[in-house]
Amino acid sequence: MTAELAHSVQLLPRLDEVDRDLQCCREELRATPLQLEAEAGALELLGEQLAEAESLLAASQGRLSDAQSTLAGLEKRLDRARSRVASLVSVEQIEATDREIGSLEAQCSDAETEVLEAMEALESHSDRKALLSTQLEAGQGAQEGRQAEWAGRSSELESRVEALDATRTELASGVRSDVLRLYEAALGRGMIGASRPSGITQVDARFICSTCHARVPPAWVQEARNFRSAQTCDGCRRLLVLVEITVSGESATVGHEHSNPPT
Ligand SMILES: [Zn+2]
Repeated sequence: MTAELAHSVQLLPRLDEVDRDLQCCREELRATPLQLEAEAGALELLGEQLAEAESLLAASQGRLSDAQSTLAGLEKRLDRARSRVASLVSVEQIEATDREIGSLEAQCSDAETEVLEAMEALESHSDRKALLSTQLEAGQGAQEGRQAEWAGRSSELESRVEALDATRTELASGVRSDVLRLYEAALGRGMIGASRPSGITQVDARFICSTCHARVPPAWVQEARNFRSAQTCDGCRRLLVLVEITVSGESATVGHEHSNPPT
């Protein structure tokens, strides 16, 4: 057992904890602005849809007023033709005017249909505009709240990262350089399965790595447990840190079998 190695390995769980906190803070600092940006993008799109709905609404207002004036004109002509018939005596003139009346009635009916359709279109564009306005307003309010909240939260996170970085530097300075290199190389490998990025791992009573479930040779575990040498798991490359291993039942027996008196 080397006291220097024991000291280094004993610092690793704390270093790991600091690295985990740093990673959480940095992830939040990275992800939240992206999320806010995506939300702003969605609101911009909603704004564009609202502008489009407003222009469709304006066009349908124009269509309705055109259809109404066409209908009014036709109705006037129809009234005039009907009142003219009473004063006519010539059969030819009466027949011609009756034909005119028939044609005007048909045109009036078409114009009425057009007015109704224009009204329906107007109503539907108006509903859509109202819906989009409400959505946009609510979205903008929520977005402003989140932006303000994030302004406070992000400066909090930045100070926390600064403090954690200082703690990390201090802890790392107490770890032997070869052990630190192994630790950082393993940390740099990122997630292993569902296990968060870390530089350390443990083994259970059957010498199975808790991170990657590879079996670690018992001799290596003994070396690591007694601080004779720094050992890593072959599967995940994480350093075997057995200082805080919890043993129960079967594992206690196995632990006893393999434990050597300190040398
Ligand atoms: Zn492993």
